[in-house]
Formats: sequence, structure tokens, C-alpha cells
Amino acid sequence: MTLEKILQSQGFGTRRQCAGLILAGYVTVHGDLVEDPRAEFELDGLPFTVDGTEWTARSTLTLVMHKPAGYECSRKAVHHASVFELLPPPIRERGVQPIGRLDADTTGLLLLTDDGQLNHALISPRRHVPKIYEATLKHAADARLCEQLCAGVLLHDENETVVAESARLLGDTLLELTISEGKYHQVKRMVAAAGNRVEALHRVQIGSLRLPADVAPGRWREVTAAELAAAR
Ligand code: URA
Repeated sequence: MTLEKILQSQGFGTRRQCAGLILAGYVTVHGDLVEDPRAEFELDGLPFTVDGTEWTARSTLTLVMHKPAGYECSRKAVHHASVFELLPPPIRERGVQPIGRLDADTTGLLLLTDDGQLNHALISPRRHVPKIYEATLKHAADARLCEQLCAGVLLHDENETVVAESARLLGDTLLELTISEGKYHQVKRMVAAAGNRVEALHRVQIGSLRLPADVAPGRWREVTAAELAAAR
């Protein structure tokens, strides 16, 4: 593929704008200055720099983010900042989307991708990919809360019961809840339906992928192939 098209696919602007960057001498590939926008390279894994910043070209990109509180998952956030503001402009521009949204006040594991198939595979209720949350509760709870959540609770405004795949108390007011659907405010509504209240919510795991310890709140990085396999 031509270098101008590779840059375009990576979010650096229109083909013309990318050609302009290359002609102006802002782009290196494998460490060498390339001034021909039509120079041909293999896209996947191509190391390049634009104005000194290093990038690796990817045909599809999947990121793992440690979502902080106070950020909305939508591109055009209404009440808070958007998680997209935590990403550099080219990655924002190439169309990555969150895989299952988290509420503005929820923290923890958020995957973002521009791979539509992966997105669908991880959020489709039919695939039953488990998502594990830690919920800080308002009232001290006992085993009855876990039993209720696993037996199924009727959410406000719904006529079917929703069940937790598993629920266990990690402390008097700390609940670990595993669910495989992604209904709106599902954890908070399930806990409310069981007579308690979520004060803080943190997602720790999707599939077998734990929130990586090296990704601090507000930070993100590309997922590794092994992590991606674990999330499925
Ligand atoms: N359930 C909720 O209630 N909120 C989230 O952000 C995720 C799951």
C-alpha cells in the first residue's frame, strides 16, 4: 500500500493531507526519511514516525484502557469529558469504539476497537462473554444478596428476570458480580432490585482478560495478542 494511504488509514488526515506531511519531510519509515507519498509498504506492523512521534501501523487496532471516573464513553460527551480525550488525535480519528460502554462514574477495564467483528463478538449476549465487576455497596450485605442475584432479580421497567453468573462478597460492602449481558446500568439496577445500592463500580475483567496492572487510571495501550485471545 502507498505510504500516503497507510497514513490516512492510521488517522493522520485525508490522503492529500498525508501526502503533504510526507512531502514536507515529517515522515520516517523504519527510521529512514521517506519523501515519496507513493512509496509502497506492507501496512501491518510498519514502524513509522510523524514529526518525531513513533507509531506502528495496524489494519485493526484494539486498545485496553483503565477508565477513570468522570469520563463518558460516548464521542460527544454531554455531562463529562469523553474517554476519547484520553487518546491521541490519530487514534481518535481512526474510529475506535468502546466495546460495551461504562457509566461515567464507573472505573476499570475498557476495551476500544475499530474491529467491528471483535466488538460484536464481545458484546453479543448470545456469546455469553462474562464481565466481572467489583461493586462497593451502600449497606453491608450477606450471602442472601448473592443468592438473590444468582437466582435472578426483576429490573425496574423490565418483565424478565436478570441473573448473575456468579456473585460473592469480598467484604461486608464489596461485591464481586459476574454478568454476561450488558443492559443499561445493569449492575446498579440488579443491586437496587435486590435492595441495596452501588456506591462505586469498577470493571475488573472481560472474558479471562483482567485489567492489566501496568495500565494506570486514565492510561491505555494496545492489547497484546494473548490478551485479545483471553477476552474472547
Ligand atoms: N453496570 C452498570 O450499572 N454500570 C456500568 O457502567 C456497567 C455495568
